[in-house]
Amino acid sequence: MVDELSVKESAVKEKRIWVRVNRVCNNGCLFCLDSDIHDGFMESREAVEEKIRRGREEGGERLILSGGEASLHPDFVHFIEFGRAQGYRWIQTITNGRMYAYRKFADRVVAAGLNETTFSMHGHHADLHDRLVGVPGAFKQAFAGLQNLVGRIVVNIDVVLNQLNIPHLHDILEFYMAMGIHEFDLLHMVPFGRAWRENRELLFFDPVEMMPHLSLAFELRHRPGIYMWTNRLPAPFLEGNEDLIQDPHKLHDEVRGRREMFEEWRDLGTEPVCQGDRCGYCPMEGFCGSLRKTLADLKGTSCDSVTCDADHLAFLDLYLPRLKAAGGGVSFVSSSPEDTLCYVGQFPERISTSTLVTANPAAVLQQSDAGGFAQWVIDSLEGASPEVVAAFCRRGGEVTLPFENGIDDFLSRVPASLREQVTVRAVPRLFVSDSRRLDPPLSVGLLATVGEVVGMPICLSGKPTPEEREVRVDLRLMNEEGKLDLALFTDWFVLQEYRVKSLRCASCAGSPRCEGLHINAVRNYGLGVLVPFEED
Ligand code: SF4
Ligand code: SF4
Repeated sequence: MVDELSVKESAVKEKRIWVRVNRVCNNGCLFCLDSDIHDGFMESREAVEEKIRRGREEGGERLILSGGEASLHPDFVHFIEFGRAQGYRWIQTITNGRMYAYRKFADRVVAAGLNETTFSMHGHHADLHDRLVGVPGAFKQAFAGLQNLVGRIVVNIDVVLNQLNIPHLHDILEFYMAMGIHEFDLLHMVPFGRAWRENRELLFFDPVEMMPHLSLAFELRHRPGIYMWTNRLPAPFLEGNEDLIQDPHKLHDEVRGRREMFEEWRDLGTEPVCQGDRCGYCPMEGFCGSLRKTLADLKGTSCDSVTCDADHLAFLDLYLPRLKAAGGGVSFVSSSPEDTLCYVGQFPERISTSTLVTANPAAVLQQSDAGGFAQWVIDSLEGASPEVVAAFCRRGGEVTLPFENGIDDFLSRVPASLREQVTVRAVPRLFVSDSRRLDPPLSVGLLATVGEVVGMPICLSGKPTPEEREVRVDLRLMNEEGKLDLALFTDWFVLQEYRVKSLRCASCAGSPRCEGLHINAVRNYGLGVLVPFEED
């Protein structure tokens, strides 16, 4: 399991260069996202070469040739050779598979150096597949294409999950496994293009109804040598199969794919045209909600809290008047004693309440008389001391401790009478491997004795989640122009706000006030730890 996890995490970290070579396709999939832009356009040979070259210069290791249907480009084989000559480690294409029915064509791409072909196969017989891709005979051709490539290069299968094929998913996967295919990516439909415009009733499905079929198919991943991935599939659909939850960093691809839309929203205030009914079916719903709030907070006239680090002090002055208007405070994030001294010395007299986030509580304690910080957030127990925490609490301060291995022992060494001043914060982790390494078992007895627990649903902490301050600004997310940097914001969203619940949470009395558990904690603990409760 650990090996499979590291394979998946290193795949996420690999730099991939996607090059779209045309906007042409000879299928007409009922769920096609790009049907609106398929206008027959073929990129010129020179333009594609330039993109391939630039991608490599930017450190690309894997080149992915896509379309439309990339194999229809007259220079497709040349692009493989060109990518190989540029030094890409791996060259992959995504295909409907029909061109590969021609043995000579299949031979040419193999000889040119293609490493991997991902076939989009949505059924295991012609009736189902041809109906979904809108072309009679497509299955027969794609199947012949598979036969021409399996065993010669890496071949894997994408299946777009929908109401018509999920009931057959187990059989579909079995069918292709019998052909010698070992890797499958199960794609969730998104509410765009033809899927939403023409076929939403036919294709979109009720996850609760489809769950038995999905669970049966997911079981196949336990067969030796089988790799199964999911793409955009919402985490609640994967209860009991949390190892299949897609790495949340893939969100970067979604944001890059709609970059113009998000930049217009940020710069001009133009709300996305897709906003509306479809948001409830869209995997970006949480992201867009968070972005909407963040953009509003940045433009607001007052501000309750600003987070800043040493690199973004220049922007802080812009927000001080708003902070003062709201009686808000600054969180300084620092990992060095030098920065700590700087903040403690400079800022407290300019704002009313300050929080210091630091890995070095001892250095903070030494400065506490001069600094006047009221709240300390300790971001790692490593190097922290219960005695220092207790001393600070005796002075009336409030301390936030991370929920990580050793927290129970740490708390037991802080006198019970002071623990009311302690908040324990569930730490969102960047990767699931971090959660597995650092997060303690969920049954931590002493949590009940602290003042507050944040970042953890009430069904786990036994304590209601405290209301957070309304308007908050994180200056660390600004680019050099002082605008919200979309890539940094995406990282921030993944780390701070990407929370999920179980489908079962619909019956929980706490649900309206609950944001669920962080995505990587869910991937570690499983959704099964969440226990809906009745109003009490
Ligand atoms: S969630 Fe965002 S991207 Fe998705 S449909 Fe709504 S506005 Fe568009
Ligand atoms: S809504 Fe779900 S996660 Fe939240 S408290 Fe209820 S069971 Fe727990």
